[in-house]
Amino acid sequence: MTFDSARLLTKATSRAKSDVANKLVGMFLHELSRKLSSEIGMRVSDASYTQAVVGTFGSNCAYCERNLEADRAAVEHLDGMNRFRVGLHIVGNVVMSCKRCNNQKRGDDSRVHLPLERSGWESYLAHDGSRCEPGCKTCLYWEGIWSERETRVRKMFLARERITAFRAQFSKAILCGERARNNHKASVEALYRDGQNFASNSIKKTVSAALIDILCNAGVRPKNVD
Ligand SMILES: [Zn+2]
Ligand SMILES: [Zn+2]
Repeated sequence: MTFDSARLLTKATSRAKSDVANKLVGMFLHELSRKLSSEIGMRVSDASYTQAVVGTFGSNCAYCERNLEADRAAVEHLDGMNRFRVGLHIVGNVVMSCKRCNNQKRGDDSRVHLPLERSGWESYLAHDGSRCEPGCKTCLYWEGIWSERETRVRKMFLARERITAFRAQFSKAILCGERARNNHKASVEALYRDGQNFASNSIKKTVSAALIDILCNAGVRPKNVD
């Protein structure tokens, strides 16, 4: 099959607006996290927190246990920091994972409704091959790590238990995260929509102003000027 350049070129043109809106959502979630961390009195960067992460997970991926030194590592948000999951950069929600799990989990994190569980990370750890339609990419990913079914189910269950126990140490922060997710998702959605509208409207206005000047300078008569 030949590479579909046309499809990628078409997609690139429509992506810019949502990038701006996603960036706004990210900025909001980071700012809220900063304030909450200060109120809670513990930050992700505090030695006591980083030691807790290392104490629980060592230098392994929080999900698949692969050694982080042997793989590229990512700062991982259990509840993803996007408009669907409304995750925060606060203690109890930040761990380390391998780049491959970090990428793979986006499949669940970017869905409006989670397929298997109530949170993104729990859903990600539920793709053990028994609950999805055949051919589920995330199930196949886990099968690639532990091909033997019994081992896979047990390992994924243990990862989930380990993360649950880890989070229990930060109950105040976890409560804050749940409240944000359950009660403030609509305002995050509104911010996303406002961001998209702002991008469309101000770009349209600025383009109109620039267009005539640029065309006239080039000696081209404008055909479609609003
Ligand atoms: Zn991993
Ligand atoms: Zn699956």
